[in-house]
Amino acid sequence: MRKPFSTSLMMTQPATTLEARALALLKRFYGYDSFLPMQLDVIKHIMNGNDCLVLMPTGGGKSMCYQMPALLGEGCAIVVSPLLALMADQVEALVGNGIPAAALNSDNSEAQNRDIVEQVYAGHIKLLYVSPERLMTDLDVWLNRIKVSLIAIDEAHCISQWGHDFRPEYAQLGVLKERFPAVPIVALTATADKITREDIVKQLHIDGARQFINSFDRPNIHLAVRSAVKGADKLREIARFIARHDGESGIIYCLRRKDTENMARNLQRMGITAKPFHAALPVAEKKLTQRQFINDEVQVVCATIAFGMGIDKSNVRWIIHSNMPKSMEGYYQEVGRAGRDGAPAEALMFYSFGDVSTLMSFAIDSGQRAVNEEKLRRMQQYAESTVCRRRVLLSYFNERYDKDCDYCDVCDNHPEQIDGTTLAQMALSAIARTGEKAGVTTIINILRASRNADIVSAGYDRLKTYGVGRALSHAAWNHYMLQMLQQGAFEMAYDRGNVLLLTDYGRDLLQGRATISFTEFQYRDKAPDKSKVAKQRAFNLANERDEELFKELKALRLELARQLGKPAYTIFSDKVLMVMATEKPVTRPAFATMYGVGEAKTQQFWHPFTQAIARFLNEH
Ligand code: ADP
Ligand code: ZN
Repeated sequence: MRKPFSTSLMMTQPATTLEARALALLKRFYGYDSFLPMQLDVIKHIMNGNDCLVLMPTGGGKSMCYQMPALLGEGCAIVVSPLLALMADQVEALVGNGIPAAALNSDNSEAQNRDIVEQVYAGHIKLLYVSPERLMTDLDVWLNRIKVSLIAIDEAHCISQWGHDFRPEYAQLGVLKERFPAVPIVALTATADKITREDIVKQLHIDGARQFINSFDRPNIHLAVRSAVKGADKLREIARFIARHDGESGIIYCLRRKDTENMARNLQRMGITAKPFHAALPVAEKKLTQRQFINDEVQVVCATIAFGMGIDKSNVRWIIHSNMPKSMEGYYQEVGRAGRDGAPAEALMFYSFGDVSTLMSFAIDSGQRAVNEEKLRRMQQYAESTVCRRRVLLSYFNERYDKDCDYCDVCDNHPEQIDGTTLAQMALSAIARTGEKAGVTTIINILRASRNADIVSAGYDRLKTYGVGRALSHAAWNHYMLQMLQQGAFEMAYDRGNVLLLTDYGRDLLQGRATISFTEFQYRDKAPDKSKVAKQRAFNLANERDEELFKELKALRLELARQLGKPAYTIFSDKVLMVMATEKPVTRPAFATMYGVGEAKTQQFWHPFTQAIARFLNEH
């Protein structure tokens, strides 16, 4: 019989403070030297027996907030989680770090589940993951037999009707407080506005629970938007972007199912391993794609919003929105799937007239037109922003952020503002002269003197404005026209084939009674300066030699992962490998004290990694 798991190593010295014990366990099991913002406050709060609600962005380090109290406390922590895949990932990560954890779920046989429960009774398990249904059925049996150290409710927004992921099974969790009045309950989520937050507290009967709300900023993610790039040009830019991210995992979000398939096919033709993912695909195929992505066998997934929910993959290095998403909430949630390990990551969004009109028709059909139109407008404002994008984003989420981030395309380039009045007058005049019967492509074709059959047959080639804008490219006109739309110089008649209509402001512009400014159209595709993240996060690869070692370590990680049948990032995160490539430990003690390397990982991996580093140093 095994002895019950104990962390009493530290507890034999009663004089040590909670903080000192927590730090020692953090180093021993996770290899980290300090807590992330807010983690220690939450841990202390729970250890004092209090309930709380923890709101942190993805990658903010929520799990530690309950895992550490589970390690510090007596008994077993119960963790409620909505998705089997998430539970499996978490348990895998914990066990990999030498922490006894298990999940009760319907994928296990009854015998396996019974065995797990026995181990919990015997005190061998520190964290037990369960689905809400399971917890409710087993509650009465367990109640008297195990010492529950705390109850953590992950993805807690699922309990609220106001949240976007309401799950009826979560509604029953309200009884927990009554059944376990003395056990601290901690609810955790990455998405909850104020109403949802209050609702979570109410539904869980943890009135008065303290709310820990962390900044939603994700400083390691570079933000960028490309307007008015379409078709083959867009594909070329995407290919170039992916080439810059050689072998690095990424997700491309598309609006429609068929777009995901086209995109994947186009990328495959360029030799990139890409797969589509959307709700209509067979379940087996979706599972396979997900697994291949997690295991770094497929580099790119082209997905509708249905992808990413149950994925904990920490080394997603980039996100592309091939089309503008319909709301800032959705956009930020998807962007947040990149860079969970804190290493530099990139988010690029494309947006065009086509997106605006498609999203507008979605909004009109949604039955909640006013709300969705407003969300779309805010999204457009973000896309057209002339100030730091992070400012716009965080202010949307009611967060104060009163500096420029220095890590978005606007901060990188500070786009030049130009007086656009004359250009606007050309376009508005064309709109007026077509009798407000033409869409944006036709207007641009008129301005650029196209000999297109539609133009000629409608007689538009005889208009006074025909050809006045030929000095500018089609893409440039698109870029300026998008800004005119966003600033209200004209409207699109979404219910009448997207023809352009003059507004009062547009008429004023046309008559010379008003002015308008644009951000200049300029082409750019360059890698963000990752050293800027280094300043904030205190690490980065300093030179090409380190980059090369990093690549070799990644290859070694993948090889080991395949041998072990686990996803690569569960061995070490990209961030840990970067630190390794920088510090180049070649002895066991040097390896053991490194960032992100605890006792269990040292034991298991010091040999192959230090050998690889030694070999590299010999050769270079
Ligand atoms: P969330 O659940 O909030 O998305 P996670 O709990 O998955 O975030 O943590 C995100 C990443 O941060 C993980 O790779 C985790 O190992 C790491 N992490 C957590 N706490 C710390 C810490 N104190 N120091 C360094 N890294 C940490
Ligand atoms: Zn910025």
